[in-house]
Amino acid sequence: MSKNIVLLKGDGIGPEIVDSAVKVLEEIAKKFGQEFNFIERLVGGIAYDNEGAPISDETLEVCKNSDAIILGAVGGPKWDSDEVDPKKRPEQGLLKLRKELDLYANLRPATIYAALKDDSPLKDRIVEKGIDLIIVRELVGGIYFGERKTYEEDGIRTAYDIEKYNENEIKRIAKYAFKTAMRRRKKLTLVDKANVLDSSKLWRKVIGEIAKYFAEVEVNYMYVDNCSMQLIANPSQFDVILTNNIFGDILSDETSMITGSLGMQPSASIGVSRVNMYEPIHGSAPDIAGKDLANPIGTILSAAMMLEYSFDMKKEAETIRNAVEKVLDNNLRTKDISSGKDFVKCSEITEAIIEIIRK
Ligand code: NAD
Repeated sequence: MSKNIVLLKGDGIGPEIVDSAVKVLEEIAKKFGQEFNFIERLVGGIAYDNEGAPISDETLEVCKNSDAIILGAVGGPKWDSDEVDPKKRPEQGLLKLRKELDLYANLRPATIYAALKDDSPLKDRIVEKGIDLIIVRELVGGIYFGERKTYEEDGIRTAYDIEKYNENEIKRIAKYAFKTAMRRRKKLTLVDKANVLDSSKLWRKVIGEIAKYFAEVEVNYMYVDNCSMQLIANPSQFDVILTNNIFGDILSDETSMITGSLGMQPSASIGVSRVNMYEPIHGSAPDIAGKDLANPIGTILSAAMMLEYSFDMKKEAETIRNAVEKVLDNNLRTKDISSGKDFVKCSEITEAIIEIIRK
């Protein structure tokens, strides 16, 4: 059955990297007899310039009625000036999209490729044990969305932000994380601060209740300060890390760094409706935009996540991942992962990936 995929290329390198992912998907469609129908809409600065808002209501409607969304990146210096209304800045388009689609689960896998192990800042003996984990981060609740206030108390400047979750918000992300663990090595680590925070204690309680329905999954509990250390000392121990919005935000940047490069990392944001969004973790890289220098692999791997998570096309997703690995084994590198040695262009590495899929 044909799948309708909205392409939100966005700004900077967005169009180049999304075009690469589309070419790869077209090759996959040919090879496996699938049909992908691509619908292009604007988001970010380019949407502001052309439609007066970083995402139009019409685009939101098209997204809501699609089967999945692939996003490039938004933003750039052009829209940083005070002349642009803060409510219409490029990133507001992204936030609106997440909110409107209630994309509550942010998944960030972190894998280290054998060919790129020298790019990891970790010691060889740690990297050699392998890194293959996924962070499942709650994306639309917690302290980033809680009540906040800045005020004066007895003449002293004071501020607070509230971390608040109810059991339903925890349950839905927990179920998602357990299901993810079932598809992987069946190990789940809940990362929290339950020695101090009431909200973390509730997370532990609810996760314990949900765990009864997933008896095959081994559950561990870890304080966030310990986890940030364990990710450096012994990352191979992790399979699925489940955590709240703020801890997930911080830990996922740490994991992207230990695997080597920003340009390689994909992500998925899963919602309550069937429409999910897939995007690389990096920004619009205005410094290299339009030069055919971007690394498209993070976006291509995001497309692979879409095939697996939204369309249950596991073979197709695996074919993309294997092709990426092969290209790296063949020593093809974009500039960001070349360590100053010879490098190929965005279009060239895309062609090389397609060539391997075609064989
Ligand atoms: P960035 O991720 O765009 O770039 C950081 C550095 O990494 C740059 O040197 C860039 O050239 C390089 N880089 C990033 N992706 C790359 C790729 N695929 N291939 C090769 N090199 C790559 O972060 P920034 O410079 O802090 O932000 C630039 C703009 O992107 C800002 O306007 C920011 O707000 C926006 N941004 C958007 C998103 C998003 O759309 N999800 C995320 C982060 C930042």
